[in-house]
Amino acid sequence: MADFVTLNCGINMPTVGLGTWKSAPGEVAEAVKVAIAAGYRHIDGAFSYQNEKEVGEGIDAVIKEGVVKREDLFVVSKLWCTFHEKSLVKEACQRSLNDLKLDYLDLYLIHAPFGLKAGEELLPKDDEGFVVPGDTYFLDTWEAMEELVDEGLVRAIGISNFNREQIEAILNKPGLKYKPATNQIESHPYLTQEKLINYCHSKGISVTAYSPLGSPDRPWAKPEEPSLLNDPNIKAIAEKHNKTVAQVLIRFQIQRNLIVIPKSVTPQRIQENIQVFDFDLTEDEMKAILGFNRNWRICSVLWASKHKDYPFNAEF
Ligand code: NDP
Repeated sequence: MADFVTLNCGINMPTVGLGTWKSAPGEVAEAVKVAIAAGYRHIDGAFSYQNEKEVGEGIDAVIKEGVVKREDLFVVSKLWCTFHEKSLVKEACQRSLNDLKLDYLDLYLIHAPFGLKAGEELLPKDDEGFVVPGDTYFLDTWEAMEELVDEGLVRAIGISNFNREQIEAILNKPGLKYKPATNQIESHPYLTQEKLINYCHSKGISVTAYSPLGSPDRPWAKPEEPSLLNDPNIKAIAEKHNKTVAQVLIRFQIQRNLIVIPKSVTPQRIQENIQVFDFDLTEDEMKAILGFNRNWRICSVLWASKHKDYPFNAEF
């Protein structure tokens, strides 16, 4: 059974969650069921993954079968960038809740700091391929997120893909009611994010590591790009512990006190990815893995790079 991290709002978040980006409708409901049977209690989803209905079917099935109760689960969704206007936040949350067949979320995140033009299109773009910004600022969006907590629609709120300055802006916001409970960011041995993680932890904000295996199924992958799962140095460490490379990549984040959300739709891998509580990486191994950093960002979302709130131009 998975361990947990206690969030600054006092609730416990299971350390390992099942990622669901790119998990196709038709396979993700089964993946959710397999995961919960394997001991996962945390499911990471988002409106923009366009599969929340099927994720909800999986959750609904295990609850109906009596495998778990709703309160045993920790379900995460994310507010997409086209819903940053204060007047749209509740509706967007309600839409995810309806799709998931739930009456509350455990955690709702602002998916990214940049707001986009409102509408049904997920990624409204201009003629040059850059996204069309909305007339919004994430500090206002945050106020609407706070209201969701007060209305009981969500137990905790957080952010994703925010840089230090953007987090600081929230923490310094006059009248701030709730601090972000987590910042969900890309992290793996090729993008260790030490500075941003230290900053978040120093402010009592937990960090959730996404793409922990290097996201080999990312749609824009190129053969010449580095592959964490085939890294000989990490393989050597895995062999010493009689574990797989994926298990070492996940364990690495747990030992940094992060929450980690590997995605898989393959039953054997889903099970493998949570068998990470029966071994310890040594201090030297942790140091060695941190030394593999090469600031290689998978989700650099360059189509948003001209947006005033694009997060990845800053050092961290
Ligand atoms: P991951 O790093 O989790 O890698 C997923 C890939 O690894 C899939 O191709 C999967 O294959 C494969 N895989 C899984 N387990 C194993 C294993 N044990 N051995 C070998 N291969 C394995 O990538 P993601 O980018 O999906 O990140 C994880 C999650 O983080 C997302 O699904 C999403 O929930 C979240 N995320 C959030 C973002 C944000 O902006 N907030 C951005 C990106 C991700 P298969 O499924 O075929 O088994």
